[in-house]
Amino acid sequence: MANQRDVRTVLRRLKKTFPNPGAMELGDPYRTLVAVMLSARTRDEQVLKLLPGFFDAFPDVQMLAQATPKQIELKINTIGMYRQKAKHVKGMAQAIVSKFRGAIPATMDELVSLPGVGRKTASVVLVACFGQAAIAVDTHVHRVTNRLGWIRTKTPEKTEQALLKIVPRDVQRTVNQVFVKFGRYICIPGKSRCWMCPVREFCDYQRKNLLEPTDAAAVKVDLIRREQELERLRKNV
Ligand code: SF4
Repeated sequence: MANQRDVRTVLRRLKKTFPNPGAMELGDPYRTLVAVMLSARTRDEQVLKLLPGFFDAFPDVQMLAQATPKQIELKINTIGMYRQKAKHVKGMAQAIVSKFRGAIPATMDELVSLPGVGRKTASVVLVACFGQAAIAVDTHVHRVTNRLGWIRTKTPEKTEQALLKIVPRDVQRTVNQVFVKFGRYICIPGKSRCWMCPVREFCDYQRKNLLEPTDAAAVKVDLIRREQELERLRKNV
């Protein structure tokens, strides 16, 4: 298990590599909540592309609560599971209007009481919009922190609980911000790109892939290009 100094060092280094906010961190709680809900099992780029049109049609939670499922589906039908997601975001909006007077709640218990909102989504909203300490664990955060040897867990739920114990509160927000991108570009599933990993000396992973491939330069350029495009789309929402 990692000590807190190493945890801080790893997060600081990765923040230098990935300085932008998380792709779904849109500042406003309503927008962030919708964005994270729509991003489940969907590429961030796809969600960010449809969000400007979505928020033009449904600029606030009241408008979304009043929309029909069909109207919502028409705005999100470029992503997977759009019918189910339309139902969830409408249900979420209706619950916020009826139970929380139209204000996005700022506690974990209240957020996870909303239709379609789990702990991961709630955690992103809490850290990104309400400045609270929380760790949103997705498949990337789960894989990377286990490979690093910070924790030994079998499920994202257990990972969240374990990470909350070892990551200092003031840097918990950074975990999701950097590990999602790090897991997508460098500590990828399968054959990880340890040859370009800025924190490899802190990593316990037994099967490090340190052999630099012939297309290493192209891989690095692609990483920068994709990250720039993601940030451009995020700022465009
Ligand atoms: S050294 Fe490899 S396995 Fe370890 S964190 Fe870096 S990319 Fe992941």
